[in-house]
Amino acid sequence: MHATLPLLAKSNFPALNRGGVDTLQVNLGYLCNQTCLHCHVDAGPRRTEIMDKQTVQTVLDYLHAKNIKTLDLTGGAPEMNPHFRYLVQQASAMGVRIIDRCNLTILEDENYAWLAEFLAQHKVEVVASLPCYLSDNVDSQRGRGVFDDSVRALKRLNELGYGIEGSGLMLTLVYNPQGASLPPSQSDLQTAYKRELQLRFGIVFNQLFTITNMPIKRFGSTLISQGNFASYMQLLKEAYSEENLADVMCKSLISIDWQGYVYDCDFNQMLNLPIQEKEGAPAHLSDLITRDIAGTPIVVMDHCYGCTAGQGSSCGGALD
Ligand code: SF4
Ligand code: SF4
Repeated sequence: MHATLPLLAKSNFPALNRGGVDTLQVNLGYLCNQTCLHCHVDAGPRRTEIMDKQTVQTVLDYLHAKNIKTLDLTGGAPEMNPHFRYLVQQASAMGVRIIDRCNLTILEDENYAWLAEFLAQHKVEVVASLPCYLSDNVDSQRGRGVFDDSVRALKRLNELGYGIEGSGLMLTLVYNPQGASLPPSQSDLQTAYKRELQLRFGIVFNQLFTITNMPIKRFGSTLISQGNFASYMQLLKEAYSEENLADVMCKSLISIDWQGYVYDCDFNQMLNLPIQEKEGAPAHLSDLITRDIAGTPIVVMDHCYGCTAGQGSSCGGALD
């Protein structure tokens, strides 16, 4: 895989400082039931890097000490971490809003037959990637059979109340472009998804997030192989929208890796750009329980143009 960091480091992206942290995004490890071609963490069934109980406890201690409002769980398949249920139960008891970035197919795995009801019981918000409402496009990006399993999982979630207005069970779908282009209008695409999923499968959901592909990891490497890296960066820079700068997610979120080290966002985590302690060592979440990092600088490089291009992009979809 081609390294993208050397191409991103020399950057004129504006300096950014964080505000207060209201969201803790936690990568529970690289174990996953799928092996998608585009996976930015190379997750899969044989990965052994998963968050241990002690680090999970540090996450809970941080949520409590800092009165964090939102816990955003990612992986791999976060549900495959053996401490997933403990973490959700404890955070839920604290009144924390919990988001599960779920690949949907895990809900169809016989070993996780408990999962859908468990998520509903704790009012966990489900955010699920579905790059298209047509099976061929999804299967080519995420693997054969993934679309059919995803449809079955979405129907099951609907049966439990997910995606139904007034149920209190939020179901969000995520779209990212298949290639080197910016996502279309989030609201227009949401309308099309709602219409097509309802018509074709009787599926309902609350909202669609569109997310811009970042020129890092596997996608960035593919751009380099195909000679498209410079033109994609130019596309992102030409679409720069200053009004998105105030709302980029790193202003109010920090991202934790499976060992508890802290990053400005998931992308900086993937680029191995941790928040540094004064001595230059990577900051660990346990260090931040008694320390306030509001106002400190964020590590920005050229990939940050992916967050500010066009309608903007974040883990919560478009920014405008
Ligand atoms: S489901 Fe997500 S974490 Fe798992 S392999 Fe696919 S992209 Fe990676
Ligand atoms: S990639 Fe986006 S969220 Fe991450 S540091 Fe850059 S602007 Fe912030």
